[in-house]
Amino acid sequence: MGLNRPVTPEQLVDFARAEWERGRARQAVRQAWEGVNHAMDSGSRGVLEQAADLADTIAAEAQGRPAKDAAQLATYCRHCLAGVGNGAKANSVVSVIFGWRRKQTCPDCAEQISKDARVCPHCGFRILPPPED
Ligand SMILES: [Zn+2]
Repeated sequence: MGLNRPVTPEQLVDFARAEWERGRARQAVRQAWEGVNHAMDSGSRGVLEQAADLADTIAAEAQGRPAKDAAQLATYCRHCLAGVGNGAKANSVVSVIFGWRRKQTCPDCAEQISKDARVCPHCGFRILPPPED
């Protein structure tokens, strides 16, 4: 490229799509993640939609680890989009994402489970909601 211009999220998703078209699923997912991370900073909804579509395609057509990573990326994008759609700014979108990613430890079997879980999917332990004050 030669020019020392910063790469835009749009370009990163384009690179990801180009990698995927060359059959390089792993590189495609990595580029798409990077594009999404940049898009989070700029709050660019279009990029998240494109990345989610690309990730869906990779998740459906690739195999193994890249397919799993792509499925995770698609979910991540959709959570971002839900936040952006509500008029949230990038910062609060990030907190939505981190809220979504936050885990709790099951008091019975000590597995990591969703913080919103009320019943442990591993051992069936019923988790009481935190007391309200
Ligand atoms: Zn458990």
